[in-house]
Amino acid sequence: MIDTALINQLKNKPIEPRGHLIDGLSVLNEDGMTLDVLSPRDGRLLTTIADGGSREIDLAVNSARRSFEAGSWSAMAPAGRKKILVRLAELIDAHAYELAVLGVRDNGTEINMALKAEPGSAAATFRYYGEAIDKVYGEIAPTARDIVGLISRGPVGVVGVIVPWNFPLMIGSWKIAPALAAGNSVILKPAETASLSLLRLAELALEAGLPKGVLNVVTGTGAVAGEALALHNDVDILAFTGSGGIGRRLLEYSARSNLKHVFLELGGKSPNIIFPDMPDPDKAAAAAVNGIFRNSGQVCVSGSRLLVHRDIHDEFLSLVVARAQKLRVGDPLDTASDIGAVNSAEQLQKNLGYVASAKREGAVLCTGGARILSESGGYFMQPTVFRNVSAEMRIAQEEVFGPVLSVIPFADEEEAVRIANATNYGLAAGVWTADLARAHRMIGKIQAGVIHVNCYGGSDITVPLGGMKQSGNGHDKSLHALEKYTALKTAWINIA
Ligand code: NAP
Repeated sequence: MIDTALINQLKNKPIEPRGHLIDGLSVLNEDGMTLDVLSPRDGRLLTTIADGGSREIDLAVNSARRSFEAGSWSAMAPAGRKKILVRLAELIDAHAYELAVLGVRDNGTEINMALKAEPGSAAATFRYYGEAIDKVYGEIAPTARDIVGLISRGPVGVVGVIVPWNFPLMIGSWKIAPALAAGNSVILKPAETASLSLLRLAELALEAGLPKGVLNVVTGTGAVAGEALALHNDVDILAFTGSGGIGRRLLEYSARSNLKHVFLELGGKSPNIIFPDMPDPDKAAAAAVNGIFRNSGQVCVSGSRLLVHRDIHDEFLSLVVARAQKLRVGDPLDTASDIGAVNSAEQLQKNLGYVASAKREGAVLCTGGARILSESGGYFMQPTVFRNVSAEMRIAQEEVFGPVLSVIPFADEEEAVRIANATNYGLAAGVWTADLARAHRMIGKIQAGVIHVNCYGGSDITVPLGGMKQSGNGHDKSLHALEKYTALKTAWINIA
């Protein structure tokens, strides 16, 4: 049961201007520069954040390096790190409403979803890696008897983390928690339109007992603070979630600086494929609608291409359009809203630009396509469905990252696979069929990091999330994520 009274109490609370969090302290820019934080709910000024540059990044990297070398965290026994990370998970749970409402005011995600996906996932993630870290063993190689071959994993050092504005707490935690659990020190650069809840998370980490300097947050723009972090010669690893365009730049920055390892979790244009033998058309339509429109389509694994078999195309499309039209778009802090606000005026314009381009290319608008509730000052958009989309149109190739669904017909399994794989992306997919053999064939043939069968979008912290092709080269979540933040070391010991 959601506590609406508490949400109402928190939603108008003034937010003090925020500094960076460096070496355990709130630090303002030396030049006094700040960025305005506008709420996507109403376009009004919420507060300001510090607009960090290379000086603040230097301070944060130095603090992270000092803490790593001092061993206050990196040399702590895993069982000690576990206690602090689990305590942090408890604090996140205890502050769940505060964190969720703060995040929604900053980024516009609807509160029902934010409560689960943001503090809910963040707490589960810190608990998972905290609990795991004293259960991860090294290996002994099968060598000759006079040699002991020890294979171990240890922390790498200083980790830079750059995250996007959709689900900042969840995605931030997917990186920070395993990096910290492994004993590294971290500098986080959140998105400029979603920094507030992550700053609060870092304060809670101090309260949980994380030594100062182990988790630093520098706010600011990607072009300045993000670039300075990615180019820094004393950062050992860069873990990034965001768009392919910026991911490409980060690889360049690494090549121009110290060849730091760069792990990229990027976008998608995920196909959700409906065969005529799907077990339950209503359930499939509901999942297709939820799979693209939740969080206004601002989900990396959104099923933004709906591939429907020609035999059921019109009938299934009607189910989808009817459901899309029933969704209630409104204030993200109203629990009755199904969909909240688009994150920024810029993203809203981008979405509308794709609607115009789809029409120009000959796609047919079935529903939506416009900004709504503009009198509120907020950035709201109707759930939008296009039919008669062909695989080569921009709307079928490029990630919109908004509430826009492209419906594409197919004739048979072979064509479904061909269309599904015909983009540069390979993040997620869905397959709806009662035929187990077909489901397995599709799992084998579709190029995607995660494939849902007879559902769309489900997951938890126990399974990895990562992409193929231009959807990235790294995985968040599960024990596999620890591989990114640890260095593999061999000791070849002669005992003859
Ligand atoms: P974005 O524009 O690539 O930005 C991501 C982050 O990079 C932000 O913090 C941004 O800072 C920063 N940045 C921008 N320019 C930079 C530069 N030159 N150097 C270093 N950092 C820089 O992506 P977005 O619009 O925030 O997020 C949407 C994208 O993220 C979509 O493509 C989505 O699919 C992807 N995503 C992927 C996953 C996954 O798990 N695969 C999950 C969620 C989202 P600012 O604060 O200035 O923007």
